[in-house]
Amino acid sequence: MARFLIFIAVCTAIYFLWAHIQKISKRPVSSEPKQDIEPMVKCNYCQVYTTKKSSIKGNDGQWYCCLTHEQQVGK
Ligand SMILES: [Zn+2]
Repeated sequence: MARFLIFIAVCTAIYFLWAHIQKISKRPVSSEPKQDIEPMVKCNYCQVYTTKKSSIKGNDGQWYCCLTHEQQVGK
């Protein structure tokens, strides 16, 4: 009977240990926010650096911070 109780206790301990490991593995590795490095491009008109995503590529292949500057150079 004592052996059976020890067996149950060991099983319970293994179960809680396994549940604990599952909980840890589901947690994100680092709590730091992701640092996405955006490529920067220089405006051909005002020389201001802006992210490539928010920039406009002109017909001349140059980058511009806004449509106005792209049109200014084109004139
Ligand atoms: Zn500009």
